[in-house]
Amino acid sequence: MLYANSHVGLALWRTSVGRMHANLRGRDLFGDLVGECRRRGIHALGYFSVTYDNWAFENHPDWRLLPAEGPDYYLGGRAGIVCPNTAYRDYALACTREIVGRYEIAGIFFDMTFWNTVCYCARCTERFRREHGSEPPRRVDWDDASWRAFHGARQAWLLEFARALTGAAHAARPGVTVEHQFATIFGNWQRGQPLEIASACDYVGGDFYGGPTEHSLVCKTYDGLTRGRPIELMTSRTRRGNDHVTQKPFEELRTEACVATLHSAALLLMLAKIARETAPYEPFLGGDLLADVALYFDKESLYNPAETGVDVARLRAPDQCPHRDALVGAARLLQEAHLPYGVVTNANLDRLARYRAVILPSVLELTREQAERFRGFVRGGGVLVATGPSSLDRKAGRFLLEDVFGARYVGRLGTRLTYLTPRDREVADAIWPQDHLAHAGAMVQAVAAEDAEVLATVTLPFAPPEQGTVIGSRFGAYWSNPPALKAGSDPAAVLHRFGAGRALWLAAPLETTNESV
Ligand SMILES: [Zn+2]
Repeated sequence: MLYANSHVGLALWRTSVGRMHANLRGRDLFGDLVGECRRRGIHALGYFSVTYDNWAFENHPDWRLLPAEGPDYYLGGRAGIVCPNTAYRDYALACTREIVGRYEIAGIFFDMTFWNTVCYCARCTERFRREHGSEPPRRVDWDDASWRAFHGARQAWLLEFARALTGAAHAARPGVTVEHQFATIFGNWQRGQPLEIASACDYVGGDFYGGPTEHSLVCKTYDGLTRGRPIELMTSRTRRGNDHVTQKPFEELRTEACVATLHSAALLLMLAKIARETAPYEPFLGGDLLADVALYFDKESLYNPAETGVDVARLRAPDQCPHRDALVGAARLLQEAHLPYGVVTNANLDRLARYRAVILPSVLELTREQAERFRGFVRGGGVLVATGPSSLDRKAGRFLLEDVFGARYVGRLGTRLTYLTPRDREVADAIWPQDHLAHAGAMVQAVAAEDAEVLATVTLPFAPPEQGTVIGSRFGAYWSNPPALKAGSDPAAVLHRFGAGRALWLAAPLETTNESV
């Protein structure tokens, strides 16, 4: 992959649209490198950074992304970010036409095709007014139609921008492959990047630094979304983007390379020694990933429900997404149990039929249509495990899948710490020597249907954790909050037969923990 520009925004190709890097003194570095690659039979890809463009930011103040915090947002940082709803869009398209049209590259990678944060610039504001007839809201509220419309608009605008770039590249050189940065697949709602970004990519890929477990989850998620194969993973010899000195041990890089190979993914890592180790497996790559169990990943659930009602400018923890934590926890559990799993998403729910069981890890958003798919899956003999508020219709105050779960939603139970207490012998044996499972948070209160089996109940702490203050000593133990002496009666685990299948509902996303039990 050869850099046509970088986040600095200066062109390394001979351009009549942008500004060339002065130290090149007119030399067409990008063109020379493309030529050298061709001479050696190497397929060269171009790299082009969009929206992160310091040159554009400095020279075109009216292109700047305007965060809710105001223009001072940029003072502490190094990145100048521009908005794709401004005339920057025309500039990016013109650059694309030059790079792809002028040089014989096999493909182009557009980096940073996402929103850095919510933009309230004049163009975004005007566009939202025009399309929705109101001001762009400044308070996060997932139960508010205006906020949802704004979130949807940001996703649509980004997708439109990505598709325009892809269209410009394809038109400039038929056959060229296009890839947009998709490393933000697990990024929170602020990125405004819908899963449909995959439709603007000839194959999907992105750069990741979270190690082999993350790479494995990413490969399985990409597998069902990509239009072309192989999918691509990029990583670096260093672990952190701001430290280019401390290197990962070679064994770690080898493991990461093997994860990519195991999933028939291409790995972009410039180390010949690694490439030599994975090359012998290349003739065997391809085929379908097989698994019995699917994890359900819902991109629309990547928000922090605790920040509903908070002004965008005052968000402190938008990246605390319980759905993502539960998804990663469930992936870790399956991996440790050596159970191959796949990932089904809200963009490819038709893939559910490939699996025998599916896990819904604390899914915050589920439409009626999606719920119907899961209902049909269980009716047809599938096994469904759902945790916490999965399928909860907050307005109606009921689970869309209450008939499947055999559990009717009531409300919230407990506060900072709650316990699951087994009623079933097998569950008790499974968690031994613990006699309860602790959960760091509230649980969902529900009533079990008559034909459902309650395998475990919710037990609250001996004394409410928030009462444990120095004055009055109203706590059960000084440091911890031990469970009440008598088990509670509200269901924590409900097993229910539905049609030819079964459903297990858990009152909290217990999979989120990194404990071994
Ligand atoms: Zn804007």
